[in-house]
Amino acid sequence: MLSVNEIFYSIQGEGANTGTAATFIRLAGCNLRCPFCDTEHHSGVAMDEKTIIGQIEGHPGRWVVITGGEPTLQNLDNLIDGIHKIGKKVAIETNGTRPIPAGVDWVTVSPKAAFVANGKVLVKKADEVKLVFDGEHDICDYGIEASHYYLQPCDMGNQEQNMKIIGQCVAFILQDPKWRLSLQVHKVIHVK
Ligand code: SF4
Repeated sequence: MLSVNEIFYSIQGEGANTGTAATFIRLAGCNLRCPFCDTEHHSGVAMDEKTIIGQIEGHPGRWVVITGGEPTLQNLDNLIDGIHKIGKKVAIETNGTRPIPAGVDWVTVSPKAAFVANGKVLVKKADEVKLVFDGEHDICDYGIEASHYYLQPCDMGNQEQNMKIIGQCVAFILQDPKWRLSLQVHKVIHVK
C-alpha cells in the first residue's frame, strides 16, 4: 500500500528525458522542507500497487516516473515489479538522501543539501544530477557520478528574478560545460 498524491500522463519537462511521454506517480510526503518547494505532495490517498498499475497500464508511453515528495520514503519494491511486468521502465526522482530501491532503470538525483540542513546526499551514482540554482548557493555535484549534470534555474515566481538566475546559470555553464541547462519545459508549454 502506498500513499499517492496524484497520477497523471504527460511530457517529461526536465533533464535528459525532456519531451518524452511518461506516466508520473507522485507519492505523498517528503523528508525535507525546501524553501522554494512548489510541489503539492502533502496530501495522499492510500492505494495498493495493483490499483496503481491498473491506472497506468493503458498509457502508451514507455516510462513511468516515480516522484514526490520523496518517493524513497515508501517501499517501492512491489510497484517497481508491477511496472516492469506491464513492460514499462521505471524512473525515479529523488533528493538523494536515502538509498535507491533495486530495479530502477533511470535515477535522477536533485540534491537539496544547499538549502536544508538535513539534505545531505547519500546517493553516489545516478543517471543524472539535476541541481536547482536559486541565484545564491554554490553549484556543485556533491560527488555524484552521473552521465548527465543539469543546472535548473529555480522558479522564483518573479520574471525579473527568474531571468537573472537563468543568466547566472548560462554564465556558469559557459565556464563549466560539464553542466547543461534544464528548463521546466512543461511550464513553458503549459502542461502538467
Ligand atoms: S525535496 Fe523536493 S519535494 Fe521535498 S521539499 Fe524539497 S523541493 Fe519539495
